[in-house]
Amino acid sequence: MIENNRFFDFLVSHAKNYGFIFPSSEIYGGINAVYDYGQYGVELKNNIKKYWWKSMTQLHENIIGIDSSILMHSDIWKASGHVNKFNELLIDNKDSKKRYKPDFLIKEYVERKFTKNSKKKKEILFRLSKSLEKKDFLDIKTIIEELNILDPICKTNNWTKIRYFNMMFKIENEKDLYLRPETAQGIFSNFHNVKKSNRMKIPFGIAQIGKSFRNEFFARKFIFRMREFEQMEMQFFILPEEENKWYEYWKKIRLKWHLMLNLGIKKYKLYQHKHLAHYASAGTDIEFNFPFGFKEIEGIHSRKDFDLKNHELFSGKKLRVYETKKNYIPYVIETSLGLDRIFLAILASSLKEEKLENGSVRTVLKIPYCLSPIKAAIFPLVKKKGIPEIAKKIFNDIKINHRLIYDQKESIGKLYRRQDAIGTPLCFTVDYKTIETDTVTVRYRDTMEQKRIHVKEISKIIEQKTGLINILKKLSRFI
Ligand code: ATP
Repeated sequence: MIENNRFFDFLVSHAKNYGFIFPSSEIYGGINAVYDYGQYGVELKNNIKKYWWKSMTQLHENIIGIDSSILMHSDIWKASGHVNKFNELLIDNKDSKKRYKPDFLIKEYVERKFTKNSKKKKEILFRLSKSLEKKDFLDIKTIIEELNILDPICKTNNWTKIRYFNMMFKIENEKDLYLRPETAQGIFSNFHNVKKSNRMKIPFGIAQIGKSFRNEFFARKFIFRMREFEQMEMQFFILPEEENKWYEYWKKIRLKWHLMLNLGIKKYKLYQHKHLAHYASAGTDIEFNFPFGFKEIEGIHSRKDFDLKNHELFSGKKLRVYETKKNYIPYVIETSLGLDRIFLAILASSLKEEKLENGSVRTVLKIPYCLSPIKAAIFPLVKKKGIPEIAKKIFNDIKINHRLIYDQKESIGKLYRRQDAIGTPLCFTVDYKTIETDTVTVRYRDTMEQKRIHVKEISKIIEQKTGLINILKKLSRFI
């Protein structure tokens, strides 16, 4: 129903109009690449977190969770390589004062100027990739000059030299203090505390959900690339000789975790990295087909002993284990999922416009039932004969167990539409018949089917249809 080219705008405005995502600081004109989660957004986000957290810490008895601080000792970022290697290549235009990625400028130029199979285009791209590999920034600048690439805004070629920019946010007036760019280092620095306090033996994992910050110069695509975002990361500590076994295991389990959401098997692709991050010896991305194409949603990396070894070096503290008569630094398999990216994947896959039999159109968010922000709505059909009071009593009786909404502000048709638009799986309507028979109508979001059920069944139906337990049970078969 919604044309492809307008789908993304439709999604962004739906997210705002229905309280999922607001642009941050909007009353002051906004701030680039930072967003706030609204009343339904935060519920959906919390449910995703719950699904991830339980699948890690409840289904695996050898994984425990922590919540480490965002600010950490500055040496952590030296040991992790972020101070020296967490960089992005950038060039500035002195007239427009805008900053660009030089390789993007060149790629964008050749795409525009040359035909698909043009020999010249291939030559330029080949030269660019060689210069990137050799870190020959002078040559990259020369390509820009030879092609006379202009700033897209001010149309001049008044470029600075090409430089590396560190992507960490540094805190002003605090020497070497950074906002963390990943949650993983809080796990590595607590490796021994966790191991000792919980008597853990290799293999074991530490999971964490938390905010990370990166100075993304090219933040765009809504919540896909933000400067403040949330990660759900797990570091699994293993025997070095079992690296391959656990790397394969975690690739499989993480993909299963995604597939359980039923967003569509064709929406996922695995991409094996050829160019690895500075800490990794093997890496696979789980890519998702977002409205703007396949992009990384989660990374699974083998970090070998990179982090623990460097923290030993920088801190002077032993971070090795002595188990089964061996003294060694464990290897690490990492799974790292962006909470905002999985949120966007769910929202984009769930938002539909459907033409109904009577010719009207409904907008519906077909969010997986177990993640829906609101589990059920309770409505009185009319505002008389004590019907609202009965509906309110039903609501009060079960609101302790489930996240519900009570609403009587509009006609029943409009109330259904509103719940469809925020993805509520079940609506229960109280009417005249309720007074005599203690029954209500239940309406299912996806099929719009309606059935009569006894009041006593409401809570059980909500639990059965929307509980996390179903999906966790299915996932546990693979663990
Ligand atoms: P990308 O290549 O897209 O920049 P990355 O390889 O730098 O991602 P990682 O460092 O592996 O990402 O981080 C793990 C996960 O954190 C990513 O898979 C992604 O889901 C999420 N993530 C990373 N950067 C951002 C960001 N700026 N905004 C939102 N989520 C992010």
